[in-house]
Amino acid sequence: MSFSNLKIGVLAVQGAFIEHEYALQSLGANVFEIRQLKDLNCDFDGLILPGGESTVQSKLLRDLKMFDLLQEKIQKGLPVFGTCAGLILLAQNLSNDAATHFATLPVTVRRNAYGRQLGSFHTVSEVKNIGLVPMTFIRAPIIESVGDGVEILASVKNEGNEMCCDNQIVAVQYQNQLAVSFHPELDNDRQIHRHFLEMCC
Ligand code: GLN
Repeated sequence: MSFSNLKIGVLAVQGAFIEHEYALQSLGANVFEIRQLKDLNCDFDGLILPGGESTVQSKLLRDLKMFDLLQEKIQKGLPVFGTCAGLILLAQNLSNDAATHFATLPVTVRRNAYGRQLGSFHTVSEVKNIGLVPMTFIRAPIIESVGDGVEILASVKNEGNEMCCDNQIVAVQYQNQLAVSFHPELDNDRQIHRHFLEMCC
């Protein structure tokens, strides 16, 4: 499948956005950075919310007057892919934070769920309909529970983590929203980005 007719906006106010741009470009998609309100004056086919610091991103989105417009676009069906902090921005509930952000994705998420010692780790795990995918976790959130209609795409067991001994949900899809708690843009595997671009077609 060719993605050369797709135009994807990558939120570029903070965090790991460049790596997403490289990933999308390597699959043939057209990419532009969303840094300020005027960048949203065009039609586009999909939105990436990168990893980084969700509280900082949310504040910048509000300060730059982009928050309401992006939330409305997601609510109206614009395909969106949130990674790590991006997942936190999308979540309807945060179990260890009073704030919520876009709140368009019916899941409950725990921020920084892997504690300090195991703040970062790497694994390879099965993603539904996709196959084995390398997963890099950096101070990652986990998805504690999902609402009606949310498809669980991947769960990971992290044996060494006393805070999280069961299988933890790390990838979900709900209608136009794809969200993962890891950083697919930091590995060379492009299967998840390809899956997102297929959602945008
Ligand atoms: N812990 C960060 C947050 O709460 C997310 C970490 C990440 O995106 N790598 O926003």
